[in-house]
Amino acid sequence: MSSNKEAGFATRAVHAGQRPDPTTGAIMTPVYLTSTYVQEGPGVHKGFDYARTVHPTRLALEANIASLEGGAHGLCFASGMAATSTIIEMLDAGDHVVSCNDLYGGTYRVFTKVFARHGMSFTFVDATDMKAIEKAITKKTKLLWIETPSNPMLRITDIKKACALAHKKGVKVVVDNTFASPALQRPLALGADIVVHSTTKYMGGHSDVIGGAIVTNDKETFDKLKFLQNAVGAVPGPLDCFLLLRGTKTLPLRMVKHCENAMLVAKHLKAHKQIAKVHYPGLPEHPGHAIAKVQMCGFGGMISFELKGDLERAKRMISMTRIFSLAESLGGVESLIGHPPTMTHGSIPREERLKSGLVDGLIRLSVGIEDAQDLIDDIDQAILRSAV
Ligand SMILES: *Cc1c(COP(=O)(O)O)cnc(C)c1O
Repeated sequence: MSSNKEAGFATRAVHAGQRPDPTTGAIMTPVYLTSTYVQEGPGVHKGFDYARTVHPTRLALEANIASLEGGAHGLCFASGMAATSTIIEMLDAGDHVVSCNDLYGGTYRVFTKVFARHGMSFTFVDATDMKAIEKAITKKTKLLWIETPSNPMLRITDIKKACALAHKKGVKVVVDNTFASPALQRPLALGADIVVHSTTKYMGGHSDVIGGAIVTNDKETFDKLKFLQNAVGAVPGPLDCFLLLRGTKTLPLRMVKHCENAMLVAKHLKAHKQIAKVHYPGLPEHPGHAIAKVQMCGFGGMISFELKGDLERAKRMISMTRIFSLAESLGGVESLIGHPPTMTHGSIPREERLKSGLVDGLIRLSVGIEDAQDLIDDIDQAILRSAV
């Protein structure tokens, strides 16, 4: 589609970056299983020379995701962590990053256990607090890295405010938009310089592929990242790109249902006597509700909550659901349940976890697109049976 800039989000989800295969008319972008391309003469080719550098199925996906984020440039990677690492590869030893203390466990791990060894430093703050961000920024700070809604506490950072603050100090802003997806939130339009995704989650949407993506409007940043994508080489395979292209086509539809179901489940949990606390930005009493209402167009499919009783009860409860599967990850059509302290966030030290409000009994739900009543009934029976 040549005019996809003007088209609406759902139209772009289906068409952006894709056109019928010029040789056959195949409506779906082919899975080009090739590592190289035949050249007519040395250096004379159709723009494709080696598949790590440039690949047609990947190009279609990169254009598709860039369009959905409202960005000029997209780059795809073998995983969300590969995308994250490639952004940090832009930095030099001595550079500093300010990030939120309520962060995806793997991001915290690669920052503190890998890049800290290479001479970069990281400060983790409550990124809902603009003063805390401001205080953490030093002369060496190059990036502000935020996740909103955050994982697993579903905290909301005001992207516009955070960007204004960072830009005043010459700091670029990266937003991990995995939890919201561009169907609900477009950080570039709010001032962010770079958007990063684990496409493994909502973008793919079917729990059948691992992938990552970066989108930016800044040509200089894109050039650096494009260089690193090729130089470091953490690229996705063609079949993965195909699966993601299939996934993004239904992203707008799926997100509507995820939001609808999560709201019903969150309201039910809130009214439940066995539940001490519910974290869902769609609930009016959530501290980030007012900001979420402005910067998102839906509150997403992720909920976390604290079950009354001890850690053992929480562990029993999450093993007793019948529709919610006990698993890491999120964002698929099927509902998942997990225990962040021992699963996704096990790599964060307990004191750090507690500082960010991640208590031992916290349970996280990725609410799928099943019938909401079945999901509610499933949670109820698991809570009931876990009491004994
Ligand atoms: C899963 C996830 C990642 C890491 O992505 P992978 O595809 O698993 O490498 C990063 N950020 C967030 C918010 C995630 O949920």
